[in-house]
Amino acid sequence: PYDLTGKRVFVAGHRGMVGGAIVRRLADEGCEVLTAGRDTLDLKDQAAVRGWFEAERPQAVFLAAAKVGGILANDSFPADFLYDNLMIEANIIEAAHRTDCEKLLFLGSSCIYPKFAPQPIAEESLLTGPLEPTNEWYAIAKIAGIKLAQAYRKQHGRDFISAMPTNLYGPGDNYDLNSSHVVPAIIRKVDAAKRSGEPVMVWGTGTPRREFLYVDDMADACVHLMKTYSDFEHVNVGSGEDVTILELTRTIMDVLGYDGEIVHDLTKPDGTPRKLMDVSRLAALGWRARTPLAEGIAGAYEAFKAGQYREAV
Ligand code: GDP
Repeated sequence: PYDLTGKRVFVAGHRGMVGGAIVRRLADEGCEVLTAGRDTLDLKDQAAVRGWFEAERPQAVFLAAAKVGGILANDSFPADFLYDNLMIEANIIEAAHRTDCEKLLFLGSSCIYPKFAPQPIAEESLLTGPLEPTNEWYAIAKIAGIKLAQAYRKQHGRDFISAMPTNLYGPGDNYDLNSSHVVPAIIRKVDAAKRSGEPVMVWGTGTPRREFLYVDDMADACVHLMKTYSDFEHVNVGSGEDVTILELTRTIMDVLGYDGEIVHDLTKPDGTPRKLMDVSRLAALGWRARTPLAEGIAGAYEAFKAGQYREAV
């Protein structure tokens, strides 16, 4: 196993929800955590990233930096989602190789899989069919990231691995209604409805099924993979359970204590009908999710009320 104790560990994207959770989790590992703010290091700038790696020489890297957003943001800013993510991952992976980084974990997303992949989605489904059009820009960039990590392992013997999380939520999430994912959006809408007494507006039919994972569970899985996994194939990270968007909405209303009406905005897209990961590979590596949905939503809501969120991407 790879030991993080005493290592210089770079968390790229520490201001994001996942990067922030990884930084919190690494407090238990006795390592030196390195971060670089957006103001000091532009991850899209190849020369700057190379210079930073040469100066800081991280031994391990969690690549959690990305341009992220929900269904509407992906559809509205395709160039940003493709270009920014390609540049960030290519610059970091190449710089890590040049500076002899010992281990790198690249983080992708479950949207890399074909729209009609058999459910639950196994790692082998990658590149077996067309993508969901609403987020294919982001997906193509993340597929390129997996392939980059594999290519550096194959050509240069680098210990670069990839993890593909399902839909994540929790403290530090993006609550901007135009660019957020569904969990923070519904939390925010139910919170507002509690005060106004108005109905909760759900996009689409409410019938799509999604799997959700609390971000602190994700961070724990990342550390677990960093320590125990050294192989070519990427690894799915999920809770192994899915719910409909309507069930999610009712759970959020229960946790927040609001018993109002739900209405649907059918002008908004449903996206892919179902997205549930096959997490047996990760289970075989000795890891499983611990936080039930209602408990995670309570944690996310606490952080939201305390002002721990980002307003926009
Ligand atoms: P996806 O998993 O890539 O489709 O991304 P999202 O998390 O943005 O959306 C998941 C599902 O939740 C889709 O079917 C959306 O239409 C639905 N949904 C319902 N209400 C909302 C909302 O207020 N915001 C978002 N982003 N999605 C919503």
